[in-house]
Amino acid sequence: MPSPASDQVLLRVECCAVCRTDLHVVDGELREPKLPLIPGHQIIGIEEATHTRLGVPWLGWSCAVCSYCRSGRENLCDRAKFTGYTLDGGYAQYAVADRRFCFEIAETYAAEEAAPLLCAGLIGYRAYRMIGDARRIGFYGFGSAAQILAQIARADGREVFAFTRDGDMAAQHFARQMAPYGPEAPPRRPRNRSMPRSSSPPTAHSSSPHSGTSSKAGPSFAPAST
Ligand SMILES: [Zn+2]
Ligand SMILES: [Zn+2]
Repeated sequence: MPSPASDQVLLRVECCAVCRTDLHVVDGELREPKLPLIPGHQIIGIEEATHTRLGVPWLGWSCAVCSYCRSGRENLCDRAKFTGYTLDGGYAQYAVADRRFCFEIAETYAAEEAAPLLCAGLIGYRAYRMIGDARRIGFYGFGSAAQILAQIARADGREVFAFTRDGDMAAQHFARQMAPYGPEAPPRRPRNRSMPRSSSPPTAHSSSPHSGTSSKAGPSFAPAST
């Protein structure tokens, strides 16, 4: 069992979701991982000392003194450490985590429902906030983040489009499965009720709307997660 430092919590892991970045780490595609390493960066666990339910995300530590950290942009910290990559992660019975980077998780969520929120949900919602009141939303790629955000978008009464790789039948089928989730309000354009649609990714030229907002899900620091 790992021993927590003074600034860390010891968690009994309930669940740890899988992200594509975990696969990149395990396949050795990201430079200089901690080795040996326990992967996994979407952890739901119970703090042993207080029995508080906490979630642990990808960003697991930052220096707190650089200009980025002091301006609330600790995700850009040059010395940042990442759960399941440069810090041990959650595919274990117990994990330690810096308490500054843990989120309290409501008991109303099942652990397996809450875990994907720690990366896919977190970065997806960050991008979603940036699109303002756009009514028609395109998801480029339809993975874990898009799955979560498509449900939110449709509950908000927005029209959802999914763009996947040509021939990726699994992703296209998955995208279409999201249709039963909404919208809760009647759509403005009933012809489009069968959305989300899937298609080949458009070229940069053809995908440029005349007036639109582009918002990228995923951290801007390297390595990108999800
Ligand atoms: Zn810093
Ligand atoms: Zn991730």
